[in-house]
Amino acid sequence: MSNQPRALVISPNWIGDAVMAQPLLRLLKQAHPELAIEVLAPPQVVPVWRRIREADHIMVTPFRHRALQLGERLRTARSLRQRGYDAAYVLPNTLKYALIPWLAGIPNRVGYKGEMRYGMINVMHHDEPQRSMVPFYAALADAPAPAAPSGLPRPTLVVASEETEAICRRLEIARDRPLVAFAPGAEFGIAKRWPPAHYGELAARVIEAVPGVQVALLGSPNDRATCEQVQTYAAAAAGSVLNLAGQTTLDEAIALTAQASAMVSNDSGLLHIASALNRPVIGLYGSTDPTYAPPLSAVSRTISLRLECSPCRKRECPLGHHDCMNKMSVERVWSELAPILAPVAV
Ligand code: SF4
Repeated sequence: MSNQPRALVISPNWIGDAVMAQPLLRLLKQAHPELAIEVLAPPQVVPVWRRIREADHIMVTPFRHRALQLGERLRTARSLRQRGYDAAYVLPNTLKYALIPWLAGIPNRVGYKGEMRYGMINVMHHDEPQRSMVPFYAALADAPAPAAPSGLPRPTLVVASEETEAICRRLEIARDRPLVAFAPGAEFGIAKRWPPAHYGELAARVIEAVPGVQVALLGSPNDRATCEQVQTYAAAAAGSVLNLAGQTTLDEAIALTAQASAMVSNDSGLLHIASALNRPVIGLYGSTDPTYAPPLSAVSRTISLRLECSPCRKRECPLGHHDCMNKMSVERVWSELAPILAPVAV
């Protein structure tokens, strides 16, 4: 093993959170240009880390979601011990992730108190309520301090143009025509979703306003049915859209998003991916707080009705009416999207 200093970053489990951790790595590299940063990540977020320039090496966790798997964690810790890390940055707040660098004997274990992780985390930061995700993670680059860091770089992902070329070719998407992407799903739960009927109507508006436009619906296989509904509503309003939910890997969805003239998305991983690719983005927030995880691209808008009950942060509407999303009108979203699309609508 070389004398090069090495740090381990233990990744969050959610795609959007992994994207928002990128500025932490940037700050670590700025402070220690010689530092090798290795990332331990669950398989679902590995495509994000592959596009973070500062991640020198990525290892995939063998753990099942929510499972303790103590034996597996011990084996992982043993293999990490051989790699000789100077520090570990533990981004999930759970005890089971803090166990790994402690068992691996990594001397500096940086993170938040989380689940009372005294001893396991020995450079302990104390979470400030209401701190948004980018400064939440970026604060770990420095010694614990009460004030949130400011002037942070925005999250950035990098996609090779050949990747975009390849996925456009496979899906027969023309690169010389505008592409508008919608992400109507949200893995966390239905409370985060703008209704499919609204997305369908918005798609029809886009098609009417932008000559030659291609509207694509992105998402995981779990979003397929939601996207089929969007397709049906769009068709009823005389618009044809491509339902790509479940038709691409996350790697391909990222590469395709790099091509988009605009993305309209619920508060989900794809919103943060589009933002980190610096695409024009409109984020629709219902049960969640837009100040907590806003899109940060050069052209970004957040829409939230900011109802009294919002943000409830529930997976399903506890009041049963889902007004935070149902009452967010197509007109309101279109009023933000139309000026963004004006340059391509000629
Ligand atoms: S309680 Fe309010 S914020 Fe939460 S899902 Fe229902 S309408 Fe939306």
